[in-house]
Amino acid sequence: RAKIDSRGTFSFFEAALDARAQTRRKIEVELRDAIQNDLLRPYYQPLIDLSSGRITGFEALVRWPHPERGMISPGEFIPVAEETGLINAIGGLMLRSACRDAAQWPDDVRVAVNLSPLQVHSGNLLSVVTDTLKQSGLPPRRLELEITETLLLEKSAQVLATLHALRALGVRISMDDFGTGYSSLSYLRSFPFDKIKVDQSFVRDLGANREAQAIIRSIISLGKGLGVTITAEGVETEAELSCLRAEGCDEGQGFLFSKARPNTEIVSLLRAQRGVDGGETDA
Ligand code: C2E
Ligand code: MG
Ligand code: MG
Ligand code: MG
Repeated sequence: RAKIDSRGTFSFFEAALDARAQTRRKIEVELRDAIQNDLLRPYYQPLIDLSSGRITGFEALVRWPHPERGMISPGEFIPVAEETGLINAIGGLMLRSACRDAAQWPDDVRVAVNLSPLQVHSGNLLSVVTDTLKQSGLPPRRLELEITETLLLEKSAQVLATLHALRALGVRISMDDFGTGYSSLSYLRSFPFDKIKVDQSFVRDLGANREAQAIIRSIISLGKGLGVTITAEGVETEAELSCLRAEGCDEGQGFLFSKARPNTEIVSLLRAQRGVDGGETDA
């Protein structure tokens, strides 16, 4: 019996691997097709200034409306896109769409775009960003680029030079998912960041959990010491929000404020905000 079990387990394991590979392959084929047919769309989630409650900008998040499966989340296809190199095409189209859309927003509203490790190491990021800004007419100071700390694992001179050149243009650089990687603190010393986005795992349970509060407090004081903006990701409850406010966190993002929405809704959201602020009608 034992022998049969172990053989059975072995072939079950192989079959599972095979099924996994097939799923990935299917995603790859369909994703390639979606890119070619221009089906991927940016959705935008607001970033809120916690002292004024105003929208300071939006993060562009890729969405894939699939004919049979509905909206597929990036968590499912970004890893496949990274493995297959399709992320370069996705990154390029997200940057173009985001800059083009943001150019139509009010002048004090920024747009944040996620970059994949491949894009940052590609060697042509600076020219891609420069060209895209020029074509869209978006001023560089209104663009933020989000980089997850895992990508910086190699502290290459080339990556460092690219980041400095982008900042010299006026583009802002954010460290995404702060605290989830191995070397968050050493990256802060080596790379030029304007903003730290604290991962939602540290925001969860704020107000109810003393440890979470102590960690947030020290990240915020670190940010003040470095002169960088601190943004809390994944704010879902009023308790989390009031704790973040009390600790002096600069910005928040999360379902409490809004989920990511298509650009058509962003335009009316911003119009409503302008109406509340100044009583202005649409210009
Ligand atoms: P991220 O850059 O950290 O983006 C934030 C994610 O948290 C988004 O998930 C957003 O919908 C989600 N989120 C926002 N507020 C809340 C909240 O209150 N609660 C919870 N539970 N989640 C919240 P999304 O859109 O599924 O994206 C997942 C990840 O995929 C992103 O994490 C980013 O790493 C990656 N991604 C998305 N779009 C792009 C892209 O255009 N290029 C690249 N390279 N990566 C992207
Ligand atoms: Mg991000
Ligand atoms: Mg993030
Ligand atoms: Mg995150």
